[in-house]
Amino acid sequence: MEIGADPDVFHPVKDFLRKHDLENNHDDDRIAHFVDIYLNGPRKIPNYSGGLGVLAGDTLKSFADNHIPVAAVSLLYREGYFSQIVDSKVGQIDQVTRWAPEKTPALFQLHAPNDPQQPLEIDVPFFNEDEDTTNVKAQVWMKMEVNENLDYFVPEFLLDYSLPSSPSWILDAAGQLYKAKSTIIKAYQRRLLGAGVLPLMQRLGLTANTLHLNEQHGVAVTISLILHELENRLGSNYRDILTDEDIQAAAQKVAERIVYTIHTPVKAGHDRFDRKLYSRLTRKECRRILNLLAHDPETPNDYNFTALAMRVNRAVNSVSRLHRDVTQRQFPEFAAKIRAITNGVHHLTWISDNRAQVFDAHEKLAGWRSDPGCFARAGLAASATFRNDLTHAWQDDNRQLVRYINNMFMEHRKQMQETWIDPPNYLSYLPEGGALEPGVFTIGFARRFSTYKRADLIFDNIPALADLLLRGGWRINFVFAGKAHPADEPGKSVLKLILDSQKELYIRSEGRAKLVFIPGYDMHIAKIMVSGVHAWLNSPKRPLEASGTSGMKAALNGVPNISVMDGWWVEGYHDGRTGWKFGFEGPVAGADMSESPDSLFYEEDSLSFYRLLPRILRMFYDRPDRYLDKAISNLRLNMPIFNAHRMTAEYVRTYGLQLDDATAGKMAAFRKLYQSDIKNEKN
Ligand SMILES: *Cc1c(COP(=O)(O)O)cnc(C)c1O
Repeated sequence: MEIGADPDVFHPVKDFLRKHDLENNHDDDRIAHFVDIYLNGPRKIPNYSGGLGVLAGDTLKSFADNHIPVAAVSLLYREGYFSQIVDSKVGQIDQVTRWAPEKTPALFQLHAPNDPQQPLEIDVPFFNEDEDTTNVKAQVWMKMEVNENLDYFVPEFLLDYSLPSSPSWILDAAGQLYKAKSTIIKAYQRRLLGAGVLPLMQRLGLTANTLHLNEQHGVAVTISLILHELENRLGSNYRDILTDEDIQAAAQKVAERIVYTIHTPVKAGHDRFDRKLYSRLTRKECRRILNLLAHDPETPNDYNFTALAMRVNRAVNSVSRLHRDVTQRQFPEFAAKIRAITNGVHHLTWISDNRAQVFDAHEKLAGWRSDPGCFARAGLAASATFRNDLTHAWQDDNRQLVRYINNMFMEHRKQMQETWIDPPNYLSYLPEGGALEPGVFTIGFARRFSTYKRADLIFDNIPALADLLLRGGWRINFVFAGKAHPADEPGKSVLKLILDSQKELYIRSEGRAKLVFIPGYDMHIAKIMVSGVHAWLNSPKRPLEASGTSGMKAALNGVPNISVMDGWWVEGYHDGRTGWKFGFEGPVAGADMSESPDSLFYEEDSLSFYRLLPRILRMFYDRPDRYLDKAISNLRLNMPIFNAHRMTAEYVRTYGLQLDDATAGKMAAFRKLYQSDIKNEKN
């Protein structure tokens, strides 16, 4: 449904043009135009909402680095995901995002091979309960995930249904990612993806045997495959003669081609549609397939798309070990086949330029760009040069983040005078400007504002927080960012609570604590945050965070995490060598999975944080050498695990691809770094 791969955080072609001084003086207009797009074109592709999409982008980049023959399919949203304005009185204000695919680097519209003036189009059939078929057209864009060596790319095909010829119900659904105006729009949006896959493959001649469902959003493709299979078996009049046994047999055959990744235990992440309502969008035989394969005893009046994806596949994986255990409990019927492939992030995307320079310069890390496993063996902690260089790079990145925030404050002051917006930062109202200073202990937190992520957890008791800072004489910055889904009112209230905490925290702590909100969270802001802070905070309600990936981005920069024992952190914590844990840690068996406000355990878990924080501050200010040890342990222990190459190597095995010996050998070596699917020691 979403892919996040903005060319402003990873841009190998632009880097190449700069490095080889190819920026100016192109006589050929076409080359000048091309170069201009790469250097000056828009750098956002707003086709993602959060971790799911960013992970998809990171995965594809890793496939490209390792020459893995894969293609991706998603949708092109002319209105992207919504843009966020934040007003201190109102909270989040949702705005339409305008962007220009034509001018965006690495993004191309495909043209018809027999008529190159015309865009390539595919026909995607849509049905209704009156057995009418409407053939809807989609044009196809290709984002190239070009690797750093510029010797391979993975294509990402984006279906664009926002065409003048499209009926209004298609236009309504195709414009904006996760548009939630109605359930029908949501259902159509899923179909735009799932029903488009086979026509696209056919038109482009893609012969992939394995289809990987990244979440169940595109699961409608399995219905198309089952229909094809039935037609193959029974002939063209299959619709009149098929039996339930035929459907089951066809589904079993199709299952051999499907790999499914489930990304969350949270209910809202799993599509359920009222049967009556969904039936209006389907033909009779589709309904029969859904009745047999998308039923859910818990909600018998719904079609449950997660249940469908769970039933029709040859492999299911969760995104961390803990999430595997949770998923097995949530779906006991399928427990035996649910495995863990713990997420990883694309290290070349998320390691800051300053850090990368340090790694480049260190002999023992030769080859780190292609083999992030080398950090395990480099003996970094003992090298005085490395310690010194890493410290300086970290300081530079911190200065860069502070500069970004202070510039934002200045912008906000202008905004205050020139627009009706009340800027979302109390600090920017202060006469002396409230500016941050580099070197002050800074905690980062950025993610979607879902209630279970509990962004406001650590501000549950501001007097207690302020008090501990006063007693220790410490200064601290909290830097927050994130969007709430436009329909998620509770999520928006949490965001507003963060804004409402700014003044009280500042006053009560006598100016020692500064809480900053950066609006418009995106990959660029993520990158300067994860590298510019001193610690990364993760405070979800365990065990609702399936994995989490922003903390991995921090870890790959050597930034320690302060986290609830949830998702990836159960695997990344290493008995405290890489950061700190706090909050509820009990077994997942029988754990409370509810997201309702009165069962989010704010009091217990925030208290646990307040008890921990002084220890961290003391180490940061008094024992910087020990703090640096934690950073280096992140590079040594977590870089080899939570990089995307290790993850993709595990996926490549489930795909069953035939690779040349060299590539297969590389994949096997990455799999040796870590095996996701072993037992958790605890839980
Ligand atoms: C990494 C990332 C996320 C995911 O962060 P989580 O820790 O998984 O919540 C979301 N949005 C952006 C822009 C990111 O870069």
